[in-house]
Amino acid sequence: MTADADYRSRSFWLDDIASLGGTLAPRPALPGARDVDVAIVGAGFTGLWTAHYLLDRDPGLRIVLLEKEIAGFGASGRNGGWCSALFPASMDKIAAHSSREGALALRRAMRSSVDEVGAVADKNGIDCGYTKGGTLSLIRSRAQIARARDILEHARSWGETADDIRLLDATEARARLNATDVIGALFTPHCAAIHPAKLVRGLAELVERRGATIHERTTVTAISPHRVDTREGVVRADVVVRATEGYTPTIRGYRRALAPVYSLMMATEPLPNSFWDDAGLRERETFNDLRHLIIYGQRTVDNRLAFGGRGAPYHFGSRVEPAYDREPSVFEALRSIVVELFPALADVAVTHTWGGPLGVPRDWFASVGLDPATGLAWAGGYVGDGVATSNLAGRTLADLIGGHDTDLTSLPWVNHRSRQWEPEPLRWVGVNAGVRVMSSADGVENRTGKTSLRAKAFSRLLGG
Ligand SMILES: Cc1cc2nc3c(=O)[nH]c(=O)nc-3n(C[C@H](O)[C@H](O)[C@H](O)COP(=O)(O)OP(=O)(O)OC[C@H]3O[C@@H](n4cnc5c(N)ncnc54)[C@H](O)[C@@H]3O)c2cc1C
Repeated sequence: MTADADYRSRSFWLDDIASLGGTLAPRPALPGARDVDVAIVGAGFTGLWTAHYLLDRDPGLRIVLLEKEIAGFGASGRNGGWCSALFPASMDKIAAHSSREGALALRRAMRSSVDEVGAVADKNGIDCGYTKGGTLSLIRSRAQIARARDILEHARSWGETADDIRLLDATEARARLNATDVIGALFTPHCAAIHPAKLVRGLAELVERRGATIHERTTVTAISPHRVDTREGVVRADVVVRATEGYTPTIRGYRRALAPVYSLMMATEPLPNSFWDDAGLRERETFNDLRHLIIYGQRTVDNRLAFGGRGAPYHFGSRVEPAYDREPSVFEALRSIVVELFPALADVAVTHTWGGPLGVPRDWFASVGLDPATGLAWAGGYVGDGVATSNLAGRTLADLIGGHDTDLTSLPWVNHRSRQWEPEPLRWVGVNAGVRVMSSADGVENRTGKTSLRAKAFSRLLGG
């Protein structure tokens, strides 16, 4: 397989870029040793947003990005395209770690990040299909009614008004998305649907035009203070930014920093207007339902259904392999959920299936930070909420690296340190037990109509 064909196969989004005449050909690798101001490891959203905002602050900065494959090869070129204000830790957990005001400030910053992504794309001509249509969380069972009430009550206790989240009755919900068994929905406007690969590839071209250098097909083997080792040579830098998310455990010394957990997706062929006239999503609302095992969908600009979910196993030793992107049983499960939601799609062609690793920290608390003594900076641990969060990370890193105390650098996730994951085999047993509890809870709830207490306890343990 040629490099282009291999990269195309990583997601519908990357394939779409190539189908539209764009190139995925790798940029030149690092030609040898270099001295720079900032070296960034990983050219996904985190690395590229960081370069972008650093250049806003100081256009003369010498920035190099070192990327093992191509820009957008990782989760940034493969995700569900929800540019949402979601943060993986709950408001209660953030407040316990900081203060109520700190949690509220982080929530405000997340919401403005959703708009910031759209504004940068618009200003720089990055046509990533950004449409801020909000998110619908469908309610489709008795247990999900109870969960919706809990979510709404919790949101109100945190000052969210009907402008932030509201309950739709069955008629209102079906008018937006006419899936089966819909008895209501929660709706929040704080989310945009995007084509993630167009955004990440567009950002790569943008930072390059502004003077940063991206070396692709350059594998970083070690990160240490003021130094990055690659097979092609050593890069010395005042600051080294680790922006490798789900791949972090593959770098020496970081095996237990984040657990790579796989999320898998599929895309249908473009669906006819007759389907969408009935199904809805006229404002390209992103959607899920309130089951435990996360699912997510969007109507793409070219009228496909892009749909994904968790449930793939965690692999022993935090291994990350291309083969893990494809788990036939998960693809089958995704397809049957799509048909359960939209019986009209029973015979639809699924043109693409793919997946990729998320980065999960031990306490499910994303973080961004810089140690001024060593010049080592990082951002990540976004779990499944990295699209907008990485934008906030990039802006925050630019302030930290520039030595500026700002509203962003005092947010509660800054310099947060999650503890390491347990050594194996405990890590393998724990993470996979979580996946199993969530999958079986949905089955139990569908059969009994009652909330699964095991799943409730487990989600509290993780996100709550
Ligand atoms: C299937 C899927 C669906 C998702 N859906 C959503 C969603 O809808 N909304 C949302 O907010 N989030 C979602 N996420 C999460 C989101 O995509 C990520 O949090 C985000 O893209 C992380 O960006 P990043 O730049 O930190 O990491 P990545 O995009 O993973 O980039 C890391 C880069 O580092 C490179 N790299 C790795 N090792 C090395 C090395 N040794 N040397 C050099 N380079 C290296 C990789 O090749 C990669 O390009 C999803 C993730 C997946 C996998």
